[in-house]
Amino acid sequence: MKPSIPTRIIGLNPYEPGKPIEEVERELGIANCVKLASNENPLGPSPFALRALEAALAEVHRYPDGGAVALTRRLADELAVGVGQLVLGNGSNELIELLTRIFASPGDEVVMSEDAFLIYELVSRAQGAEAVKVPSREFHHDLDAIGAAITPRTRLVFLANPNNPTGTIFRRSEWERFLADTPTRVVLVVDEAYSEFVDDEEFPDTLSCLNTHPGLVVLRTFSKIHGLAGLRVGYGIGPEEIIDAVARLRQPFNVNALAQVAALAALDDHDHLKASRHLVREGRAFYYGALDEIGLEYVESQANFVLVRVGDGAAVTRAMLERGVIVRPMDPYGYPDMVRVTFGTAIENRRCVDALAEICADSIGSGC
Ligand SMILES: *Cc1c(COP(=O)(O)O)cnc(C)c1O
Repeated sequence: MKPSIPTRIIGLNPYEPGKPIEEVERELGIANCVKLASNENPLGPSPFALRALEAALAEVHRYPDGGAVALTRRLADELAVGVGQLVLGNGSNELIELLTRIFASPGDEVVMSEDAFLIYELVSRAQGAEAVKVPSREFHHDLDAIGAAITPRTRLVFLANPNNPTGTIFRRSEWERFLADTPTRVVLVVDEAYSEFVDDEEFPDTLSCLNTHPGLVVLRTFSKIHGLAGLRVGYGIGPEEIIDAVARLRQPFNVNALAQVAALAALDDHDHLKASRHLVREGRAFYYGALDEIGLEYVESQANFVLVRVGDGAAVTRAMLERGVIVRPMDPYGYPDMVRVTFGTAIENRRCVDALAEICADSIGSGC
């Protein structure tokens, strides 16, 4: 007899991250690859963060501050919430998992949009809960349908705003209607990993709603605009009782010492934030223009990436790889005809668009 692996675990499809540059270069025997596959910040981390990291390196024999007091206080100040309403995670992914472990048990339902970030489904199923996937509307979360999918068995709802991989948002009026209709016993998680890139004036201010729904939790991260994805730090803001529950379940040192100092320093670097936002705006305009010219359809995005209809996403991803450009195939999200492209530097974007144009001209994947 061998130990048997539970079926709820065997049934999981492991999350497939974007390919690391080194791996692609080794496999294909090429150099100078650009990675536009994981929505990272092409400007790199803030120089403030790098300096703080250097200074902290000699102290890594010490355990981190388990309460991450300095970073928690600083974030609480910045967001005008109490320190008891804030919890840090090993990336916001960890907080998605902890919230699910707290609230979702076998027999429970967790509601999400069908093309939402895949981690929500993964962690729900790992709990033995049912992931209820609601059809989206033109690449947008359909909040009315999501509301209608809530049953007495629903414990959790995950919304991503903007959503990854679609880049779309839901607006204030839909959100307010949804919030008012959502039973207060349901935990409502709004994942705002890309909120800093949003230009739409109707983007809802979810933090201002914390008092209107006792189950509302907002998630943010240092992985995207702050350029610290490799250090793993994100945070959640919510009612003290839920935050306290997460703090009980988390590992005592879930956010490492380097991540804490780098995140704290990054918050001070307003120039880096501004430049990162600016680059994304330019990236959007550049891709829209170039894709229109090539004749490829895309989904307008409020985030730092764009979903492009290329025909055969897997074939085009391979052809892009051969040209040294790493993008993300979208079959895991139910869009086998699309790829997701992260906005890079101007030079990286040019390379990506040139590769796409070349592939289209050869009608590989025949999306145009
Ligand atoms: C990138 C991303 C996150 C952040 O993940 P981290 O664990 O903080 O790196 C969370 N949600 C969505 C939708 C994302 O795309």
